[in-house]
Amino acid sequence: MNISVIVPLYNEEESLPELTAWIERVMKAHGFSYEIIFVNDGSTDRSWQVIEELSRQSAAVKGIKFRRNYGKSPALFCGFERAQGDVVITMDADLQDSPDEIPELYRMITEDGYDLVSGWKRKRYDPLSKTIPTKLFNATARAVSGIHNLHDFNCGLKAYRREVVKNIEVYGEMHRYIPYLAKNAGFTRIGEKVVHHQARKYGKTKFGLNRFVNGYLDLLTLWFLSTFGVKPMHIFGFLGSIMFVLGFVAVVAVGGMKLYDMYHGNPYVLVTDNPYFYLALTTMILGTQLFLAGFIGELIARNAPERNKYLIEKEL
Ligand code: UDP
Ligand code: MG
Repeated sequence: MNISVIVPLYNEEESLPELTAWIERVMKAHGFSYEIIFVNDGSTDRSWQVIEELSRQSAAVKGIKFRRNYGKSPALFCGFERAQGDVVITMDADLQDSPDEIPELYRMITEDGYDLVSGWKRKRYDPLSKTIPTKLFNATARAVSGIHNLHDFNCGLKAYRREVVKNIEVYGEMHRYIPYLAKNAGFTRIGEKVVHHQARKYGKTKFGLNRFVNGYLDLLTLWFLSTFGVKPMHIFGFLGSIMFVLGFVAVVAVGGMKLYDMYHGNPYVLVTDNPYFYLALTTMILGTQLFLAGFIGELIARNAPERNKYLIEKEL
């Protein structure tokens, strides 16, 4: 099969028939073999009935129904597991992404050799309250992930080589950073294509402004996991050792100064009356704690299933 189209959706009943007809028109015009996987993320409207009806009309339409609303990332993850096409395309259900982009995305993966191609909604039809924070979000994501050629990390329209989606695990709200996940898994040929964007035709957006707070925290998590996820001791042990040594040196200095003054008959204060003593003590305690955090992190990493997960590209 050439292409799997995965569509995560939550309460999008009005858009589904139009979207399906449009995708099928494009696929037939280019002679692709394809499947459309709708992942119904706990919709409370008639979306699932609509999917059932569409699937009766066309064998290419498949559906997965969640028991409740889990989020876009789990929906994508389930779609990825099920996908069979050589190229996997994800798109939103709200008709903001155009299926007309599919043939070119397919060509970029199969002929230009990209692992992942992300859409770039250069001209957006969204309210300003969304487009301005989005610019900031993307700048941060570029800096942290080191993927400097992407303008639009969170675009719903993306294309992947099948191998990519089978080897990354999207969970929580990590769908915003799939290119970063792919890069960390070793899929570094990441490209971008300018895509058409339209205003939402039916329904309303499912994400509020808290997406930016959560998105920022998720980015920190990913950065940490990719940098120290396998070797937590390398950061905690390092910081802990530095703090402990600093504290220890300071304690010795505080005690030494007192002994020196005593010996020479100068006026002196008790070690416990010296504020630096408490600063030094705190530093040593914090250092020990950080060190322990590193050790515990190592114990966890040792039991994590990822500890020896290496993706082999080729073997002879
Ligand atoms: N979506 C989903 N589960 C959710 C929220 C959203 O599957 O909990 C789907 C939604 O139906 C749409 C896509 O994710 O197909 C993108 O959502 P939306 O259009 O609301 O986001 P925006 O375009 O405003 O960023
Ligand atoms: Mg949308």
